[in-house]
Order: sequence, then structure tokens, then C-alpha cells
Amino acid sequence: MVETFEDIRASVRTLCAGFPGSYWQALDAERGYPDRFVRALTEAGFLAALIPAEHGGSGLGLTAAAAILEEVQAAGCNGGACHAQMYTMGTLLRHGSPAQKARFLPAVARGDLRLQAFGVTEPTSGTDTSRIRTTAVRHGDGWLVNGQKVWTSRVEHSDLMLLLARTTPREDVEQPHDGLSVFFDRHSRGAGGGLQTRPIRAMINHHSWEVFFDDLKVPGRR
Ligand SMILES: Cc1cc2nc3c(=O)[nH]c(=O)nc-3n(C[C@H](O)[C@H](O)[C@H](O)COP(=O)(O)OP(=O)(O)OC[C@H]3O[C@@H](n4cnc5c(N)ncnc54)[C@H](O)[C@@H]3O)c2cc1C
Repeated sequence: MVETFEDIRASVRTLCAGFPGSYWQALDAERGYPDRFVRALTEAGFLAALIPAEHGGSGLGLTAAAAILEEVQAAGCNGGACHAQMYTMGTLLRHGSPAQKARFLPAVARGDLRLQAFGVTEPTSGTDTSRIRTTAVRHGDGWLVNGQKVWTSRVEHSDLMLLLARTTPREDVEQPHDGLSVFFDRHSRGAGGGLQTRPIRAMINHHSWEVFFDDLKVPGRR
């Protein structure tokens, strides 16, 4: 039998009923971020659906996560304000070290840290990520990042950004996607210290930014 997650769906519908069209229209008018909605989803545990139970989440699968977001959208709320936390999580779960998982996941599950941003797309590379030009080079114990991302959504509303950078030049690798690395930049919801942002005014209220890296220091801890 196919699991349809009716209990979860009903809970999401109840939560979303507290965020009617007028809430979203007011945010659209001022280009505001739905902090109260994101906090409510977090406190109810929905944004931690994919975090394993041992790290403070509910340890659900992708179908349950999809059901949560489907109900959010069906209720007229905007999952786009926070859905990235669910799909960036997969990278941390699959490729993060045990120490990184222990450090970040419980805090993300509690809502103390937001993992809402990912920097992949660049002005000269969209679908073909092998062409990214942002580089990270070894610097002492950590890394120095230089380059630019574009359409980095929610970067000003997130504590952590999943950042794709080239660590070995494309001409020195066998396969185009070899030599790319993923970093977790902890930037505390704003610019500074080698990271500058510039908002992109899109027709939808999507909170996207251009992000510029000028010797951004990323710690090398794994
Ligand atoms: C509102 C919004 C929010 C976004 N948020 C983020 C974000 O948070 N982080 C982030 O990193 N990016 C984000 N993006 C970027 C988005 O993921 C990119 O737009 C996407 O990767 C496509 O890149 P591109 O626009 O350069 O299109 P291109 O790569 O130039 O592609 C243009 C079209 O050509 C097609 N195409 C490309 N290559 C091929 C091929 N080889 N064969 C056939 N068809 C092909 C594509 O499917 C597409 O239809 C956002 C974009 C928008 C509009």
C-alpha cells in the first residue's frame, strides 16, 4: 500500500491555516521574508523531516517531505521561502563528516541555525555546473574562496550556505565534474568578511541575491 501521510498532511494544513492570503500579500508588498511562517514550520518539526532521529529530526523519507511541501503550497503558503533546507540537507547527510553532522544537524532541527541557502549557479554557468569559476584554495588550516554566485536565494535569511567551488582547475581533471568541492559557509545571515551580497529584484518575492566572494575564509574543519 502506498503511504499517503494523512496525519502529517492534516497537521500541515492546520498550521498553514494560521497564515492566510493577507499574510502573504502584506509580505509581497514590502518584499518581506516570512520569518513567522518559517519559525512555525521549524518548531512543528516539518523542516527537520529529513534529519535522522539521532540528530534531532523526525527521520522521515523524501515522500513525506514532498507531502509536507505539497500541503504548504496547496494551502496558498510559500514553501519556496524555506524548502531549500530540505534538499540541501541531503548533501550534508550524504557527504558530511560525522563531526559536521553532529555539529550542524541538531541545531538546524531545533531552529537555532538555518540552512536555507545554496550557492551553485554563477553568471556564466547554470545547468552545466562543471563550468563554475568560483575557486577555493588552501590557506593555512582552511580555504580562501573567490568568485561570484547569482540567484543565491535566502542567503540573507540563512546562517549556513552550501557553496560549490572549484578546488582543482577543470583542465587538470579527467571528468568535467571532478575537482569540485562543497563547503559549508557559516555567514550569520548577512554580508561581511569577504562576502558581499546584492539583491536581485525578481517579479516574485523570492529573496534572491548575487553573492561576491573576495578572499572569503572558510574553515577547513571536517
Ligand atoms: C527564482 C530563482 C531562484 C533561484 N535560486 C537559486 C539558488 O538558491 N541557488 C542556486 O545556485 N541557483 C538558483 N537559481 C538558479 C537556477 O537553478 C538556474 O537558473 C538553473 O541552474 C539554470 O541555469 P541558467 O538560468 O543559467 O540556464 P541555462 O543553464 O543557460 O539553461 C537554459 C535552458 O537550456 C536548457 N539546457 C541547458 N543545457 C542543456 C543541454 N545540454 N541540453 C538541453 N538543454 C539544455 C536548460 O534546461 C534551460 O531550459 C534560481 C533561479 C531562479 C529563477
